[in-house]
This record gives sequence, structure tokens and C-alpha cells, in this order.
Amino acid sequence: MNPFQTPLVYLKGVGQSRAEVLKKELELHTFEDLLRHFPFRYIDRTRFYKVREIREELPYVQVLARIVSKEVIGEKQSRRLVVKAKDDTGIIELVWFKGINWIEKTIIPGKVYILFGKPGFFNMMPQMAHPEMELYVPGAQKQGNLSLQPVYNSTEKLKQFSLDTKGIQKLTAAMLDQHAKDIRENLPLYIINQFKLLNRADAYRNIHFPGDATLLNEALIRLKFEELFFLQLKLLKNKLLHTQKFKGNVFDKVGHYFNEFYHNKLPFTLTDPQKRVLKEIRQDTQRGIQMNRLLQGDVGSGKTVVALMSMLIAIDNGFQTCIMAPTEILATQHYQTIKSLVGDDFIEVALLTGSTKQKDRKVLHQKLEDGDLKILVGTHALIEDKVQFKNLGFVVIDEQHRFGVEQRSKLWRKNIIPPHILVMTATPIPRTLAMTLYGDLDVSVIDQLPAGRKPIKTVHFFENQRLRMFGFMKQEIALGRQIYVVYPLIQESEKLDLKNLEDGIEAMSREFPLPNYRLSIVHGKMKPADKDFEMQRFIKHETQIMVATTVIEVGVNVPNASVMIIENAERFGLSQLHQLRGRVGRGAEQSYCILMSSHKLSNDGKIRLDTMVKTNNGFEISEIDLQLRGPGNIEGTQQSGVVDLKLANLATDQELLFKVRKCVETIFEKDPQLAHPENQILHHAFEVKNAGLSWDKIS
Ligand code: ADP
Ligand code: MG
Repeated sequence: MNPFQTPLVYLKGVGQSRAEVLKKELELHTFEDLLRHFPFRYIDRTRFYKVREIREELPYVQVLARIVSKEVIGEKQSRRLVVKAKDDTGIIELVWFKGINWIEKTIIPGKVYILFGKPGFFNMMPQMAHPEMELYVPGAQKQGNLSLQPVYNSTEKLKQFSLDTKGIQKLTAAMLDQHAKDIRENLPLYIINQFKLLNRADAYRNIHFPGDATLLNEALIRLKFEELFFLQLKLLKNKLLHTQKFKGNVFDKVGHYFNEFYHNKLPFTLTDPQKRVLKEIRQDTQRGIQMNRLLQGDVGSGKTVVALMSMLIAIDNGFQTCIMAPTEILATQHYQTIKSLVGDDFIEVALLTGSTKQKDRKVLHQKLEDGDLKILVGTHALIEDKVQFKNLGFVVIDEQHRFGVEQRSKLWRKNIIPPHILVMTATPIPRTLAMTLYGDLDVSVIDQLPAGRKPIKTVHFFENQRLRMFGFMKQEIALGRQIYVVYPLIQESEKLDLKNLEDGIEAMSREFPLPNYRLSIVHGKMKPADKDFEMQRFIKHETQIMVATTVIEVGVNVPNASVMIIENAERFGLSQLHQLRGRVGRGAEQSYCILMSSHKLSNDGKIRLDTMVKTNNGFEISEIDLQLRGPGNIEGTQQSGVVDLKLANLATDQELLFKVRKCVETIFEKDPQLAHPENQILHHAFEVKNAGLSWDKIS
């Protein structure tokens, strides 16, 4: 039995009521939970401050000083013990409001003490309330607590049970005293040696009670390494299993549909990266193994056409295909794009979403089962069990990182031989995140925009530049261009947002009156049919300005639109801003993005806007987004295990992650079964990590 599975109630010093409150407040159930309740910072007790060096901003200081006086003053509520102590630089005052009588007795004037506490100032004199103190013995072996002291998360409730930082420290120390020897290594020795890692028991000891700063650092690296290692092991193992277990349909020819499209319908030449990605997909789909590929590319880099051409190859080989999108608007957009690319009588394209009528649905289902329908575009509705294909061979998932591994695998089960899967991200995500979110996929990148695109010019305007903005808008409209004006409506119910939007619409209507100007207005509260009507007017160039909330974020493709104005831009996230900006710059004209904001900007808000002004590169933007928000707040990471990372940080531990990934890849290259005796240890560790998942049965 692993002692770390023991319920905390059995740890010395815990007991029933403390066990309960630890469970309730911090979700600590077992010894292991406590072991993994890491300090969130440390107090540095490795140095002594001189009295003169004490500043109010210092969180804690440790001082060596001689007691010069002690006296109890005040009455009742204000009764307190005041002790003065001095070193060779000055005098510090120590104050107690509680336990006065007892403390007063223990303090010996004339003696030197180690004092430790949070400094403050009173009448210009440095002061500490309720300091920890210990008699200083010159030359003593282990004098004071010259260490980095752990500080743990606690709560008011826990404090009532004396489980503040100190209390938790005591429990953790007791557990480590008793059981540190039971902490089993879970990495092979050769890896420990190769990466000069601390062993596991020492790492846990030092993360709680660091011997010194160097050891703390080593402990952190070791435990982060381990965390990333087992995540990558799982992902790469999954990948390996797929290629072993899942046969893939072989697309051995390129035929009529592809050729006809390529030679007679494609309205432009492909970029080099587009060609490269097609080649990669072509290779993947010929090997008889299921393809699982991630296609990353910036907004407007031309992922859709690559997806379509891959689908045509599948169709040439007798298979059906589908594209799944995260929202109805996006699905509809794909449907329209693809329809217009392939033309009407070339091949049938159908749309299936939540709002598809029952009657049409029936017809669709039948056509799919018969194998007559070759291209289906839709939302989650595609995953439903009712939707059955005759022979689904190729699936495109266009996700704003919203579909988890689970959902992806539902699609595999739609065919006896699972279809090839191409996942497209709507905007680039950082490499580290891709490696963890999609670590089981191969990755293709389109890193170049189609030729002739002029980079979008982005400016940041404050409210007082609004007139200038109106002037610019008129100028562009006179040139025949169209304009988006976007308002944040994060929560459609938010009154303030709605008011903003209404005021905005009013101001725009005043500034751009009929009959010279016409506006389209689209927001989330409208009925889909009305929304569509307004969008269509804009698409047909019957209106010049589209005032909208973020519903257009992934919605429309109007190449003639050359200006994107984002109101209250400081309230949008970076990836959202980048997505929105991607709505323009789709035609040959120079395009512009104007970010409007108030003067009140948070630090992060300023960084976001500056970043947008500085770069058009989605990969760069995604890196900064990750730095600002942390991986847990980025869409799609919630269900991915990324947020289970307690120590490693995908924004700051890039280098470590790359090292770990390489290391795991090498292990699988050399010993795919992990059969080598040295690698045996990984089997066991893996099963423990994945709670009961046995090594062979991971899916
Ligand atoms: P993404 O899905 O990557 O954001 P799209 O596939 O929607 O990009 O492409 C954006 C626009 O660029 C579309 O209008 C598309 O027809 C066009 N496009 C795609 N590839 C090329 C290319 N090689 N040359 C010119 N235009 C292209
Ligand atoms: Mg797209």
C-alpha cells in the first residue's frame, strides 16, 4: 500500500475536525494531496537586516538585536507590551497586544535575540508587532531558522483550526519526517543523470523546506520536469497507439474532382506553405494509417482551401467528408465559402446545424447513409449518433480550440476504419500550448499569407481622436470601401454594453446620415433571420458600414471591407482583437484597423493594444497572449489537462518543455514498447499518474 494514499485524518496532528476542514477548504484528502500542496512563495530567512536597512515595503525581515528595555503600558484595550531592541545601527520597537504577561516574563534585557517579523513604522521608528524571537547563542550549531520558509495557501476557516501557514508547515514537516523515505522515484536513472535532476524524494523535501535557494530551484525544475514528462508520455503514447491500432483509409489516387477543381476552379495560385501542407496530407493519407493532423495558420492564410482540396482527394477515392465548426455562424460561412468555391453543379454541399429543420434533416440523413452526399458542413450536430455516413473518410475540425480530445474521438467512431482527421485552429496558438493541447497530433503550419496582401495598418486612438476617425471613414467610403465598427458585448445582458452599443449606433447614424450613407446593424439579440438579412446587405455592398457586436468575429468574409474599427478595444482579449482584425485585409486594398480606447488603461490593456499596433503576426500575438493570461485562461485549455499543471508554466517554461518533449520522443524512438528494463519504472509511474489506466489500454 502506498502510504501517500492514506487519508489525512491518520496523519499525526490532524484528527477528525482538521481533516474535515482541510478537505472542505483546500480539497486535501490524502497524504499525497498535502505533499502536493506546494508553497506559493517563500520567506527569505537566510539573511539578517540591520535596523537602519529596514524599509516598510519589505514583507518580512530578520534582525539581530539586543534588548534594551521592556514595559507594559496602556489600560484595558490598549494595554500592550513595548520592548526596545538595538543593534549598531539603530533602535527597533517590538509590540505585543496579546499574551503580554507570559512574553514579558521570557524576555531578558541585555541579551541578543533573533527577531523575525513584518516591519512597520511608528513615529519614524521601525517597529514589529508580534515578532517571532529566539535567543541568540554565539557559535551555536543550528541557530535561528536560516532558511527559506514556505508560505502556504490557507483560509480564514483553516486559521480557526490553527492551520495557517505555520500550522500547515508543521503537518507537512511531520509527514515528510515520517514518509519522505517512501517517496518513490518515477523516472529512470539514466534520465535523472542526463538532465542532472534531483531525485524525487529530495525534490519534494526541498520544495517544502528548501535547504537553500539553489536546492529550491533544483527541486522546482525536477518536479516541473516530471509533470511535463508524464503529460508528454501520455500524449505521445496515444499518438503511437493510434498509428499502431487505427488503420487508415488509403487515398491512392488523385482524380476528377481534385483535378477539375485545381485546374479549372481554383481562382488563385496556392502559396508555397499551402502546397507543402497538401503534400503532407497527401503523404499521411496514403500510408494506411489514420491521419491526425493539426493545421495552424494565421487568419486569412488560406486554411479552408487546403482543407477543401484534401476533401476532394478523399472524394476522388470514393469517400464522404465533413467539416465541423464550433458555431453556427462559422459553419454557415464555411458552407457558403465552399459552395462558392466548388460551384453549383460540380458537387453537392450540405449544411447541418442545430437549426436545420426536421424535414430537411431526414433527407440529409438518408443521403448520408446512401453515400450520395459527399460534403457535409456543420456544427456539433454532426457528432450526434443519428448522423451516420456510408463511408466517412475525411473529417475537418475547424476549432477555436473548443473541441476536446473526447469529441474528436467521437468522430473516429463514425466509420469502421476511422476517418482521417484534420484539425484547423482559427488563430495560431503558441507552440508550447499546441504541444500540450494537441501533443498527439502531427502539426502543419501555413506561415505565409497569399501574395499581394498588404499588411493591415493598425493604430490606437483615444476618444479625443474620434473626429479624425470619422474623417478617415468618410474618405474610405468615398473610395468605395466598406467599414466594420465593432462594440464589445461580452455579456449580451450587460446593460452598460447595450447602452454603449445604442449610443454608438446613434452617433454613427448622426455622423453618417441617409441618403449618402447606409448602415447595417447586427447584434446578438437579433433573430437569426434579421441578422442574416443585415449581413447580406453588407455583403452585397448595399450598406457601407456594419455596426456590430462581436457576433461578426468569425462570421463574414467581405473582401471589400478595408477598415475595422474596434470600440472599447481595451476590453477585448488579444486573440479576439486579432480575429476581428482578420476580417479586413482580405482584398487587394490597403486595410486599416483602428483601436479606440479610453484614457484609462490597465497595464495589460496597454500591452495588448501596443502589441496589436506592433505586429500582424498571429503566432507572435499568441505568445504574448499566453504570457499575459496564463494557459488556464486560454480557451480550450480547461478540459485538456494543461491546467492540471501545478508547477510548470507553459508561458515561462518553454525551454524545459521542448527538452522534455525531445526526451520523450527519443524514448519512444528507441524503445516504443518501453520494454527495456531501464524503462520499466515508467509503466508503473504511468499507471499511478493516470489512476487505473493500464499501459496498454489508453485511448
Ligand atoms: P483562413 O481560414 O486560414 O483564415 P481562408 O481559407 O478563409 O483563410 O482564406 C482567406 C481568403 O484568402 C479567402 O478569401 C481565400 O479564398 C483566399 N485565399 C486562400 N488562399 C489563397 C491564395 N493562395 N492566394 C490568394 N488568395 C487566397
Ligand atoms: Mg477560416
